[in-house]
Amino acid sequence: AVKSSRRGAFRFFDRAMSEGLEERREIEAELRRALERDELELYCQPSVALAGGRIAGFEALTRWNHPVRGPIPPSLFIPIAEECGLIHALGQWSLEEACRHAATWPGSPRIAVNLSPVQFAGQDLVAMVRQILTRTGLPASRLELEITEQMLLDNSEHTRRVLRDLKALGLRIAMDDFGTGYSSLNYLRAFPFDKIKIDRSFVAGLGEGPGSGTRDGAQTGAHNAAIVRAVIEIARSLGMHTTAEGVETPEQNRALAALGCDEAQGYFHSRPVPVAAVPGLIAQWKPGAAPAARAAPAQP
Ligand code: C2E
Ligand code: MG
Ligand code: MG
Ligand code: MG
Repeated sequence: AVKSSRRGAFRFFDRAMSEGLEERREIEAELRRALERDELELYCQPSVALAGGRIAGFEALTRWNHPVRGPIPPSLFIPIAEECGLIHALGQWSLEEACRHAATWPGSPRIAVNLSPVQFAGQDLVAMVRQILTRTGLPASRLELEITEQMLLDNSEHTRRVLRDLKALGLRIAMDDFGTGYSSLNYLRAFPFDKIKIDRSFVAGLGEGPGSGTRDGAQTGAHNAAIVRAVIEIARSLGMHTTAEGVETPEQNRALAALGCDEAQGYFHSRPVPVAAVPGLIAQWKPGAAPAARAAPAQP
């Protein structure tokens, strides 16, 4: 049932993209209603310390399960929200929801929340973040904001000042999807990020030796290993931490640990789980245990 409704959602959006504006407006109206009716859900995915296997933190990921069309992926609704301005309300909702829950979690793990570049323009982002921290009681030191390279495209004084003011609140800033942007190395110079999240396209094929998988896979793996090694080295010299995204296999996880990456995030460790399931996930987490030995988390 889930599968067919998911297909339905994609078919709907395929049509929406080709039929253009009118359909987009419809999606926009539905997203606005979903926000008003509190129909969006927060999921969280753990990030695991490669030394020791403990949960270091979680990333908050927004889910929209449309009552009729089924699950609609963020890759479809976030760009629409950005275009029509709804991203301000959505961004505030996800940040507040994430901080409110994280404040109650045992073991005080970090919570990472994605920021859209659009949130940097217009409203006072710094005041909004400060108010949410005060309202929820979450210490700023436990909050991490993830921005993509797209955010720094303009490399404007305004953007850099907002980033500096955010950091001055005591939180951390992570660069998301590192390596996929137009001028990745340039951005490392523009701002002192606390963390680099290595895009999952560079994690593909890691740990695949010549004898395993396809020849193409092994070659991609060798090239990716060289790139990941270099990124980790650069990050270390600049005093930044590293997290690898999209870690799906034990081979990738082992290779990343050997390369000295700090943390790993991906289906190998856990899929994103509903925010209410986080305390349970923390309670039953066994550092170092094979993920299969952990209780199966809910599917996203
Ligand atoms: P992201 O911030 O890079 O988040 C990581 C994405 O990778 C998530 O997709 C996550 O579910 C997925 N993922 C995690 N582990 C694996 C894995 O092992 N393999 C694969 N193939 N994928 C994995 P998701 O949840 O669909 O989100 C996509 C993007 O949408 C996010 O990319 C983020 O840029 C954006 N997004 C999601 N929620 C929010 C939000 O509340 N606000 C904003 N501004 N953006 C959001
Ligand atoms: Mg992210
Ligand atoms: Mg990412
Ligand atoms: Mg991404």
